[in-house]
Amino acid sequence: MKFAKIKYLLLRRICQVSILVLFILGNYSIATLKNVQYKQEVGIFGGNIESLMGDSSSVLAKEPSIFSHIVQGNLSHSSWFGGIFSLTDPLSVMQIFLAGGGLALDVLLGALLVAAIYGIFLGRVYCAFVCPINLVTDFANFLRDKLGFNTAQRKLFISRSTRFVILGLGLLLSALFGVAAFELINPISMLHRGVVFGMGFGIFAVLAVFCFDLFVLKNGFCGHICPLGAMYSLLGKFALLRVKHTLSNCTKCMECVRVCPEPEVLKPIGKQDGILKTMTCLRCGRCIEACDDNALHFSILHFTQKEKK
Ligand code: SF4
Ligand code: SF4
Repeated sequence: MKFAKIKYLLLRRICQVSILVLFILGNYSIATLKNVQYKQEVGIFGGNIESLMGDSSSVLAKEPSIFSHIVQGNLSHSSWFGGIFSLTDPLSVMQIFLAGGGLALDVLLGALLVAAIYGIFLGRVYCAFVCPINLVTDFANFLRDKLGFNTAQRKLFISRSTRFVILGLGLLLSALFGVAAFELINPISMLHRGVVFGMGFGIFAVLAVFCFDLFVLKNGFCGHICPLGAMYSLLGKFALLRVKHTLSNCTKCMECVRVCPEPEVLKPIGKQDGILKTMTCLRCGRCIEACDDNALHFSILHFTQKEKK
């Protein structure tokens, strides 16, 4: 297999796995504990050992992992390089704000930084390169393709706009009931926390997403339901990183449309030259890898030139 055919897939997997590994290493500490016979024991634990033990007196000493200087926290809020900057999920912040919760300055600044990175430059890249659920849904969709479920008649129709309704509903419910509504059932943070700190009942939410994508609907969760993906789509509507279509190279084979998880993004294929403007594009690069005619590539400059016309 040619490297060009899998280069974005490899990059995506390296980013997703590296981010998970960094969070695992950064959140672990080596602790000396008292056991029941008051002998000392050394163990490695993730997260806040005191709350895990339920009794801080049983923790005799705690040595944070050397990676804790790189990152600590989770995908909702993390502190980087010893607190030089924070990264915060803007959707969590909006829900907490609407629910009437207090927001620390570093949390707010972290959300603004994330909004600026994705809003100005990267668009919905979070979904393709960061989100751990993407590993689950990509696997479900790979199996779906292999098992021939995609050719079976579709039994369920859900509009791709549903995710925007769920986003609005999540914010409304947060304001009405005073709780961060989506966070109560958010499979993304359940999976991330589960991998980093230990999996609990969150595994059922992750399994539900996997089964929904495998048995019910192609690209079901990310393409139709997830409010976080919807938020990053809205946030990155005018982001600079885009996929550009070179009409003169296109042979209209439509391989790109076949592999794209958001096919409506590729409506201009074979018809219109220039950047693809639809906000739901993940910038996953699948269409670029699939194209044998050099008719698609990532572009930043072309977008700015086009907008100036
Ligand atoms: S749509 Fe949601 S679950 Fe899917 S990759 Fe994006 S943030 Fe993750
Ligand atoms: S248009 Fe290309 S980069 Fe965008 S979501 Fe579809 S396959 Fe991914």
